[in-house]
Amino acid sequence: MTTPIAQINLDALHHNFSVVKAYAPDSKVLVVLKANGYGHGIVRIAKTLLEADAFGVSRVDEALMLRQAGVTHPIVAMTGFSDLEELKACAQFDVQVVIHSDYQIDYLEQNNLVKPITVWFKIETGLGRLGFPIDKIQLAYQRLMACSQIKKPMITLSHLASADNVSNPKTAQQLARFQKITASFEGPQSLARSAAIISNPDTHLDWVRPGLMLYGASPFPNEVGSDRGLQAVMTMKSQLISINHIPKGETVGYGETWKCEEDMPVGVVGFGYADGYPRNMTQGTPVLINGVRCPLIGRVSMDMITVDLRTCPHAKIGDVAILWGPELPIEIIAKGANTTPYNLWVNISSRVKFVEKP
Ligand SMILES: *Cc1c(COP(=O)(O)O)cnc(C)c1O
Repeated sequence: MTTPIAQINLDALHHNFSVVKAYAPDSKVLVVLKANGYGHGIVRIAKTLLEADAFGVSRVDEALMLRQAGVTHPIVAMTGFSDLEELKACAQFDVQVVIHSDYQIDYLEQNNLVKPITVWFKIETGLGRLGFPIDKIQLAYQRLMACSQIKKPMITLSHLASADNVSNPKTAQQLARFQKITASFEGPQSLARSAAIISNPDTHLDWVRPGLMLYGASPFPNEVGSDRGLQAVMTMKSQLISINHIPKGETVGYGETWKCEEDMPVGVVGFGYADGYPRNMTQGTPVLINGVRCPLIGRVSMDMITVDLRTCPHAKIGDVAILWGPELPIEIIAKGANTTPYNLWVNISSRVKFVEKP
């Protein structure tokens, strides 16, 4: 079968969750599943990680989809609602919401909900993105505390800008700001994403919010997940669909970007940029064939890539080609395209078939 397959190892997912717990034993865990579970399948992840204390999605739609799929855990919409319709749906389906802007408080004050809603109060400490800015926090907090449609206490959160750079003082600065602002606030607190869960116990507080590490990747540059005891959850594989013996002096692929310096075997793998392999991937990036890392050569096409088989002369048509997985860390592949594992995962196209590892 020539359809590429993303194989999902649910044991690895449970294992990575236990790694989170080992780093942050005293915190509750909000498992982050936004963007289709970082491309791993949102319902699959939610129905597997029953040990989670809650699930975090980005948008209300994602939360409602989980509810429809029968997920009963607490779910947090991390960008909150943006109109009345969404707010009403959140109240009705028990979706917790992040409140980051005044207009959301206006909606809460001016409308009656079927039942009170749980609110995560987001404050800005230095990411420069979502959250109440420092000069608006106190007033927003008072308005929310006075609002009868909100369950008390609220949870206060902020998001870290540079936790993946452990020598950057920004994380300590954000933590200090967070603690100062929230000193008089009631209720649980949350700050850490994967990088801070691993590197900065002071940020763990009441709730940690891991995404990346649950799927098995390391948040730090020049590292792979296994360096932190994490296991890759996904193996992306396809197969060799053709092997060509190309004479010296001939070129391979669009734009003639690879010229054979000698007669050589070139494998064609059925996986291209329409499947989620970045088109800007650097030549030389490894593809695993029969356990051998064969370099990508030539340009990535829509449905295919070409690999140098000189180090794998016994390869034959139908052999499995692994694009990333436990033996070929996704961090290495991401670097080859000057991007991140997050970006590779969420760009896997719908024509890739997902299967669970038996
Ligand atoms: C995506 C996200 C996370 C998870 O970050 P990772 O780096 O994947 O661990 C945590 N909190 C918020 C608010 C997020 O948007």
